[in-house]
Amino acid sequence: MRAELISVGTEILLGEILDTNSQFIASRLPALGIDLYYMSVVGDNLERLKEVIGRAYSRSDLVITTGGLGPTDDDLTREAIAAVVGEEPRVEPTLEQQLRAFFAARGVSFPERNLKQAWLIPSARPIPNPRGTAPGWWVEKDGRIIVAMPGPPPEMERMWNEEVAPRLRERVRGAVLVTRTLKTIGIGEGHLDEMLGELTRSQNPTIGVYARPDGVHVRIGAKAADEESARALIAPMEERVRAILGEYIWGADDETLELVVGRLLRERGLTLATMESCTGGLLADTITNVPGSSAYFRAGYVAYDPEVKVALGVQRGLIESHGVVSAEVAADMARAARAVASADIGVGITGVAGPDPLEGKPPGTVHIGLHDGETAQVQSMTFYQGRLATKRRAVTIALGMLWRHLRQNTVRQGE
Ligand code: ATP
Ligand code: MG
Repeated sequence: MRAELISVGTEILLGEILDTNSQFIASRLPALGIDLYYMSVVGDNLERLKEVIGRAYSRSDLVITTGGLGPTDDDLTREAIAAVVGEEPRVEPTLEQQLRAFFAARGVSFPERNLKQAWLIPSARPIPNPRGTAPGWWVEKDGRIIVAMPGPPPEMERMWNEEVAPRLRERVRGAVLVTRTLKTIGIGEGHLDEMLGELTRSQNPTIGVYARPDGVHVRIGAKAADEESARALIAPMEERVRAILGEYIWGADDETLELVVGRLLRERGLTLATMESCTGGLLADTITNVPGSSAYFRAGYVAYDPEVKVALGVQRGLIESHGVVSAEVAADMARAARAVASADIGVGITGVAGPDPLEGKPPGTVHIGLHDGETAQVQSMTFYQGRLATKRRAVTIALGMLWRHLRQNTVRQGE
């Protein structure tokens, strides 16, 4: 099945919002065995909408649109689809009742212009949308399908997962593409590619190596008649990749470093405290994005000023002799964070977020310390791609250090 995606909205063309709906849908089509040939963005303009939807309808088996299903004059997707298939929209009484009930349940009077959200054309079936007022449209005519979904991502994503994807799964009989992503840290892209050797030339499954902000990802992709057969192709390849890269692999698929680190802390019954300077609390923020992090995260201090670092227990002598941006101070911040919060492990981050140098040290210089009560270790970076990138990279390195530390100790314990 050949598909085509259309995002409707002038906001996207003006760069005010990012078209994340397309990414969401595109990433889910391969597993359904649907080939995506085109993606377009079009503004809220009836002529251009008709043109884009009409062209898509003439050359694709499946046209998916998002956006423009609202009640206002610039929500024109329904009008455009009706024109393309040459049908007249009419108010569907059941939908009108549901719509009026939706407003009544919220104690809001019904704006008559919302009535067009109860429109249907003869070839369209409504797609339920419990998260909003506008139902989607499932249009089928002359062996072709047009699916129209609302723009707001929470509405669109639910509609896709619960309504559209299951229906498409029944209809499509193409080969499915299933992927498995193994995520590594502590090894460069080129080196990793070299270690994989001939595996990277495999045809089915294929192997792709991608550098990402949280390390290098190895993606195994298999094509087969159904998901189960594709997974059966992936399994032995995953085993071979793990045999080669095992010590670098921290997670798979949707897992994040903070999730994996949190799981290890919890399994080992250990607690964590952080003291951050240049990252301004981003490490604590990232760690606490994981539900249940209170089980192991005791405290995160943002100690920007050297005097505050000293007040939290960092040794003044170290700051005076090595500078506040130094490996020695990072290690001592880790020690102090651990001590003041009575945690098992402390992490300290000090550096120059940029763009200006500090203490003669160039922007992008960051030292990350980890202290477990016995020993301290420090990792340093000196790489500048802007202030936010520096903060993010420092946090990734800190999480990578935590992961390695926890994993090594787990291995030691298990021996
Ligand atoms: P509404 O009833 O809210 O008007 P709609 O179906 O008419 O829904 P739009 O008016 O096109 O949708 O968009 C509403 C909002 O949904 C946008 O302001 C934006 O926040 C979000 N949105 C729309 N399209 C996209 C997209 N392609 N990617 C991400 N967000 C989107
Ligand atoms: Mg709208």
